[in-house]
Amino acid sequence: MSATLETTHLFDLDFEALSRRLESDGVRPVHTQALWKALHRGAPSEIRESDDLPPPVQRWLESHWEADVSIDVPEIVTEIESGDGYTRKLLLKLADGHEIETVVMGYENRFTACLSTQVGCAMGCVFCATGQMGFVRQLRPGEIVAQVHAAQRLLQSRGESGLRNLVLMGMGEPLHNYDPVMQAMKIVADNRGIGIATSRITVSTVGVVPAIERFTREDLPYNLAVSLHATTDEERSALIPINQRWPLKDLLDACRAYSATSGRKVFFGWTLIDRKNDSPEHARQVAELLQGLNAHVNLIRLNPTEGYEGEASETSAADEFSRIIQESGLPCTIRQRRGIDVGAGCGQLRSASQRTRSSS
Ligand code: SAH
Ligand code: SF4
Repeated sequence: MSATLETTHLFDLDFEALSRRLESDGVRPVHTQALWKALHRGAPSEIRESDDLPPPVQRWLESHWEADVSIDVPEIVTEIESGDGYTRKLLLKLADGHEIETVVMGYENRFTACLSTQVGCAMGCVFCATGQMGFVRQLRPGEIVAQVHAAQRLLQSRGESGLRNLVLMGMGEPLHNYDPVMQAMKIVADNRGIGIATSRITVSTVGVVPAIERFTREDLPYNLAVSLHATTDEERSALIPINQRWPLKDLLDACRAYSATSGRKVFFGWTLIDRKNDSPEHARQVAELLQGLNAHVNLIRLNPTEGYEGEASETSAADEFSRIIQESGLPCTIRQRRGIDVGAGCGQLRSASQRTRSSS
């Protein structure tokens, strides 16, 4: 029986790991920089044809390619632009056929990519399309890094540049895939390559408390967003099943500890659902719950999903909610519901395209 070599996906490796791999194959580590640049600043899918790489690296690529080295270049299945022109959604097919979505939002050199961190999600939030599909598998670091490359290629093809922000708010729960997600962020923040500023990277979690505690201990330089949506355990557990495991008190304790240790703000997300969690009383409870915390509240009106009957709050309810929170002294923003017409609004990812295909 012949042993099969395990494939190294080059986008999984940070600079040091790439250097170690080259060295173990007899390529001097001094050549790492050139390969790293070709991988993260060049056209990685054409890397084998590149004449710019030092000959030892070219020879290394030639002998290992497909044997035990490859890169993630997901196929773009669909690319859709929303009617407002500010949101473009990519449906990407991974090597094993699973599909994930990456959304690019913005205009004029200020773009944000919204990245997926898992195929599906195990957290089961009732109003979320990803939660409704269940958990399929974790993404590797390279599959997350590849989404940033895809977003950049998309912008380049339109003569744009300026991918400035990353939000981990696509499919999946980033803190349920901790190590691969943080490895991916390390790679995309590396100045020798893609170089996204760490202060412009936001990790969003539904509240995996032990992972927030780890994030705090490790003092990682990224922003933390926490999806709140309710102020009592009863209401929160009905929307977010994992609240039963990590209830509000533990979650807020972890947020306070994070803020005290890091000196940074916590961004709280609140999805406004008509007559469910959008009353003035709810807004007052939010203000009370977050009192004394260095916090910012982001409101977003619910985007419709097939598996949940709740509706978006009226804009007047959202305005009133925001006003009450701001009056309490907490900064609060109502986020635009961008991309809804193409199913790229928060929580709508993938299901729209699945529906289209299954009905055609
Ligand atoms: N799992 C992480 C990040 C991905 S979800 C989290 O839950 O924070 C990104 C954001 O979209 C979360 O704040 C989530 O609550 C929100 N969201 C999910 N479904 C939504 C929907 N149908 N309408 C509006 N926001 C939604
Ligand atoms: Fe998962 Fe976030 Fe959707 Fe909840 S809202 S199911 S945590 S992706």
